[in-house]
Amino acid sequence: MPITGGCRCGAIRYELAVEELPVTYACHCNDCQTWSGSAFAINALLPEALLQITGEVGEFSIDAGERFPSQHLAGAACSTRLANRNAAVPGMVVLRAGTLDRSDELVPAVHIWAKRKQRWLALPKSTPSFDETPSPTEFAAALQGKV
Ligand SMILES: [Zn+2]
Ligand SMILES: [Zn+2]
Repeated sequence: MPITGGCRCGAIRYELAVEELPVTYACHCNDCQTWSGSAFAINALLPEALLQITGEVGEFSIDAGERFPSQHLAGAACSTRLANRNAAVPGMVVLRAGTLDRSDELVPAVHIWAKRKQRWLALPKSTPSFDETPSPTEFAAALQGKV
């Protein structure tokens, strides 16, 4: 069974060429709270080649003043943000994991920007968390459960 997801209105569907749900992390930064309109974002970092999108995608870029400019893929009809590319990780996409059909099964493996998290939220002590963005090496190790 492929891993599938889509936008809120259903005009966009996507498939991930993977066998199991991807490893995810939660980002509690201010940008992710603003973008999601919620407490945090749940993301999965994947090679873009694994993501097959059907339907009309709208793209926008965030460049000005950014250390790592990013391009965002959203449903053209309903503006659900599905994924973005980031200059820091060429060839990869950051998937908004809440758009997966099986999002109810996700358990973030890592929490980042924990210092900016909403105060009511208690993070599980057994899950690695970082105050800000960890170094790529630290992040990779934490995502693989090697912390
Ligand atoms: Zn839509
Ligand atoms: Zn964030």
